[in-house]
Amino acid sequence: MLKNKTALVTGGSRGIGRQTAINLAREGCYVIVNYSSSPDAAGETLKTIEDEGGSGEIMGFDVSDHEAVEKALTSVIEGKGIDILVNNAGITRDKLFVRMGEKDWDEVLDTNLKGVFNCTKAVTRCMLQKRYGRIINITSVVGEMGNAGQINYSSAKAGIIGFTRSAAREFASRGVTVNAVSPGFVETDITAPIPEEMKKAYLESIPLGRYGTVEDIAGVVMFLASGAASYITGEVIRVNGGLYI
Ligand code: NAP
Repeated sequence: MLKNKTALVTGGSRGIGRQTAINLAREGCYVIVNYSSSPDAAGETLKTIEDEGGSGEIMGFDVSDHEAVEKALTSVIEGKGIDILVNNAGITRDKLFVRMGEKDWDEVLDTNLKGVFNCTKAVTRCMLQKRYGRIINITSVVGEMGNAGQINYSSAKAGIIGFTRSAAREFASRGVTVNAVSPGFVETDITAPIPEEMKKAYLESIPLGRYGTVEDIAGVVMFLASGAASYITGEVIRVNGGLYI
């Protein structure tokens, strides 16, 4: 159980983040459900949490905006603090490199990688002071194996792996662990625009013969947040059905 712990899930309004927020609340966490543009979806996540007897709040901010992150989190950090941070917010702007513009690069790097920096920066001081913290970053199989059309996204996700390993080394002496979960192909809004024939090709290359579910990913995040994972830091756990072994 994670009773009396406060968790922040970035991008908790939809997909993997939503399921993670719900699971954390089931374990007793007070969950801050972050969103950037979908207050209604974040509200639905919170409603599910509350209907199940859990508690939390929704908090709108853009993870790529350093000042906005600091401002939004000040009162909670000065109050009860944050014990568990799930850096989950992410976007894609897929294009072949010849067509990829600076904006496509900046938006993806700013949200997926700088967002991890911004949120970690905001919460670590209180974790280090408490001598307890769990930081779980969502990377991607694409950050490990690369993917045509996703040079921006795979660069950001590979960057998250470097961030995870370095932060794990820096924070370990203060009881703060930093790990990453690397999903394969999960059916959510982010993968919805992928053409059917490409989805089929993915499916054929997944040894376990199915796409991942949000529960598959959230389950591993829960493990990393739990006491059972207290001796694990700097790890990247692949949850991809064997897509990349
Ligand atoms: P999703 O359903 O599209 O959800 C993305 C979430 O990120 C939404 O809650 C969205 O909030 C939030 N978000 C986007 N930009 C944000 C910003 N600037 N500030 C704050 N929140 C922001 O995608 P998903 O599949 O659940 O993806 C979750 C994470 O898993 C991402 O990091 C993604 O890269 C990673 N991942 C996914 C897959 C997959 O196959 N689905 C595979 C590997 C890795 P709003 O609702 O407010 O827009």
